[in-house]
Amino acid sequence: MTMQLTKPPTVGTPLGRYTVERVEALPEMQGTLVLLRHELGARHAHVIREDDNLAFGVTFPTVPKDSTGVAHILEHVALMGSQKYPVPDPFFAMAPRSLNTFMNAMTANDWTTYPFSTRNVQDYFNLLSVYLDATFFPLLRYESFRQDGHRFEFEKLDDPTSTLKLQGVVYNEMKGAMAGAGSVMWRSLGKALYPDLTYAVNSGGEPNDIPGLTYEGLRAFHAAHYHPSNAFFFTYGNQDLARVLDEIESHVMARFAPQSLDVSVPDQPDFAEPRRVDVTYPGSDTERGGQVLLAWKLGRSSNPDLNLRWSVLSDVLLGNPAAPLTRPLIESGVGSALADLTGYRDSFREGAFAVGLKGLSAGKAAEVEKLVLDTLAGIARDGIPADLIASSLHQFEIGQKEVSNSGYPYGLQVMFRLMGPWLYGGDPVTGLRLDAELNSLRADLDSGKRVFETMLEELLALPHRVTMVVTPDPLLASQAEQAERELVERLSKDFTDEDRARIVRESLQLQSLQAQESDPNVLPTLALSDVTPGVQRPDYSTTQEGRALVGRVPQPTGGLSYLDVQIRLPELPADLLDVLPLYTYAVTRSGAAGQDYAELSRRIEAVTGGVGASAGVGTAPDDLSAVRLAVTFSGKALARNAEALVAVLHDLIAAPEFTRERTRQLLEQRLSGMKASVVGSGSAYADRLASAQVSAAAVLEERFGGLTSLATLKAIVEGPEGETGAEGLDARIDALLGQFAQLQELITRGQPLLCLTATPDDIGLDVQPITTLFTGDAATGRPALAPLTTGPQARTTDSPVAFNAIAYPTVPYTHPDSPALLVLSRLLRSEYMLKEIREKGGAYGGGAGFDTRGGVFSMTSYRDPHIARTYQVFRDARAFLDTPLGERELTEAILTASKILDPLTSPDTVGRLRFYGDQAGFTPEVQEAFKARLLAVTLDDLRRVMDTYLTPERAAYALVAGRDPNTEVEGLGLKFEVQGV
Ligand SMILES: [Zn+2]
Repeated sequence: MTMQLTKPPTVGTPLGRYTVERVEALPEMQGTLVLLRHELGARHAHVIREDDNLAFGVTFPTVPKDSTGVAHILEHVALMGSQKYPVPDPFFAMAPRSLNTFMNAMTANDWTTYPFSTRNVQDYFNLLSVYLDATFFPLLRYESFRQDGHRFEFEKLDDPTSTLKLQGVVYNEMKGAMAGAGSVMWRSLGKALYPDLTYAVNSGGEPNDIPGLTYEGLRAFHAAHYHPSNAFFFTYGNQDLARVLDEIESHVMARFAPQSLDVSVPDQPDFAEPRRVDVTYPGSDTERGGQVLLAWKLGRSSNPDLNLRWSVLSDVLLGNPAAPLTRPLIESGVGSALADLTGYRDSFREGAFAVGLKGLSAGKAAEVEKLVLDTLAGIARDGIPADLIASSLHQFEIGQKEVSNSGYPYGLQVMFRLMGPWLYGGDPVTGLRLDAELNSLRADLDSGKRVFETMLEELLALPHRVTMVVTPDPLLASQAEQAERELVERLSKDFTDEDRARIVRESLQLQSLQAQESDPNVLPTLALSDVTPGVQRPDYSTTQEGRALVGRVPQPTGGLSYLDVQIRLPELPADLLDVLPLYTYAVTRSGAAGQDYAELSRRIEAVTGGVGASAGVGTAPDDLSAVRLAVTFSGKALARNAEALVAVLHDLIAAPEFTRERTRQLLEQRLSGMKASVVGSGSAYADRLASAQVSAAAVLEERFGGLTSLATLKAIVEGPEGETGAEGLDARIDALLGQFAQLQELITRGQPLLCLTATPDDIGLDVQPITTLFTGDAATGRPALAPLTTGPQARTTDSPVAFNAIAYPTVPYTHPDSPALLVLSRLLRSEYMLKEIREKGGAYGGGAGFDTRGGVFSMTSYRDPHIARTYQVFRDARAFLDTPLGERELTEAILTASKILDPLTSPDTVGRLRFYGDQAGFTPEVQEAFKARLLAVTLDDLRRVMDTYLTPERAAYALVAGRDPNTEVEGLGLKFEVQGV
């Protein structure tokens, strides 16, 4: 294979031991799919497409038979050293030696995948080599199994008379994961609907079952599953396919013989009648913390017709607040929002449809069940209006056309779409190209068939249904601790002195291994010369239209038009600042211009690909106190609907209409969403709360999306302690609506900056309906800002683990020390925090970050068993800088920092980032000066900025945890102010 293959080969062509089985054009995405098969049975899908971001993934069907978390622990341990790269953590060590735009590994129900993407060809082949070696030739060391899987450890490592504990990264990760309602429900859904299949077990690992996994069991699972005969390779981009296949052949295939393994998932036998399951999660809000979810098992998700029809039907029923299933459920007032997992799910071999409500008590189960079944029956009986179906098909069209790197890089989005049917034995092409299925659906609809009504009637007749009743249990957290103690007791009751001595020996061994210097130089790397010195300068034009500045960015958007209307706001009184995030949340979900919320949401669904509103904060490049506050309204649409998009945005800005009833629904929805997010995003909340003590911009971030905003919202919805009855609530909402009216008036006095991104054909769109709104005098001034709290802050919630944060005020973007602070954050993150917080401390994660625009430096830990220990680690960071550090560490930190300056963009984002950046003073010249300084940062600079800015007297502290930290942190001289979340 010496020829270069960037053009599609023909079917039947042998490429070494690969055969080209199919070549399919993908006109919607201007690409070509090539399907190959290796002699050993490995499957390979290559998508040829002009995109400078190249992607790769290798996926193995993994079907665990128990809840020991074997697939998940294997995913961790595979990334802890391989034959060619025998460093303890090649994956983490590789991240800073690369300019990757994505690196990760994920364990799902029944597969495990290792994907990456990068814009640098050399980097692509570097990463390919590391990924292939990690997955096919991992060392799977006993110590790695103990570090990331599970192990016994004495509280004092070398003292066998101290308390015996269970430790392990995955063990702690899953204790944290199983604390949230959403993840508990996800695990329970598989178990409830498919009790006889692999989905009944927890592939991530049930904390009490994890200690049941043996080292031999882990190795056997790897040998069976991570084999070429069981592998699905995916490559994407315009790279040379022959070179990729050569690399896989010589590195992997040449060293294996064929092997057979049955990983097929059989059909789940049908239930004779519907079932009910009760599920609990740790929580105390029994009045509002419950959920009720009805779920049905459908047909095979690899059937493209069925998959398409259920995707469309699910969107018709649930896609917007006025949708025929959503609206009656919400307006019933039984719950505050749709239950987690509501919608069509194709991530099981046989798909599922689920719907329910949350924000209620368990006593409402029968009521929800009846409501859902009656509503579905009513929809089937009355029929679904044709315009609703047309709206959903229109959403589908947008989804097929849009080329965006938002969320996952586009190349990996393509991989996940293709994998769906492929892994279940279906046709991978149908994941990417649905024209045949769409045509057949359209033909059935045009001929007057009751397509969706019939599907609903069949659904309602299915006995294979589960009603899942989810309740918070205030005792569960302490019961889990008790269960853990009992488990430790049971597993250790026959321990001999020799066993105890072995635990001490192995703990010390692990500790010394962790302390050992490894040499990442066995790994491939890029050099600083691979960093492009420039920044992206996409073309755009600007015009002044009245008081508005309008930027127009021509881009190959696949036929979509994107419009942003940013409105800079003058001084806002503190009470309006606090309700601004509620305004932006409510404004796109209420009515406008004479339409109620149902009419408006149907209009939005029919002509746009979605609209949004948000409040944002910025600073000047040279002045951290020059805080800018803006509200942004944005939306996207197919070009043929761009004028309709302008009209929608006009109405949202100029004529929003709020009602007491709808606002109450929205506030309750937002409150339950925010409450549920605390245990998953604890570090981000703690970080914001700490930062708000040292930065004016962060004060706004805290008021807009921090625990302070949660407290504001809670005070409106739930009122003062002990208050009951609706009168108080009505009065509070009326007051809020008064503030909304003031905000709306202030918004039209703000300073508008519009940005349109569209294909060159569509760039001339008339935006006057919006620009002419801003006719009055512009208001002036700046938002009033004062720190919210001073002194260490602790917020307690139902969580077995802690999220710790520390923050320091530093300098603005153009200050010469700013690049060094960014490099310092990267260095601490990869060289220090990972080792101290994750490997030694057993937390799931630890990070250091520098917000270049806000000027705040922070360190955090995620799902952390410790508090005092972690704050000591934060404080000891300075001493770490005096340990021997060399060019490698510095180069890697600079490379990683440069990735933050060159984010992955796509046609939808590249121009507006430039336009708004330029308007805020972050011009290409300013950014390139920052980059030039960044590339020249020295180790001495790092020590100097740390001594200057990250000193104990400048530090601010905040944490989120399940316990009062004060007795633990006495030795550190800290005293936290403790409040419940
Ligand atoms: Zn994990």
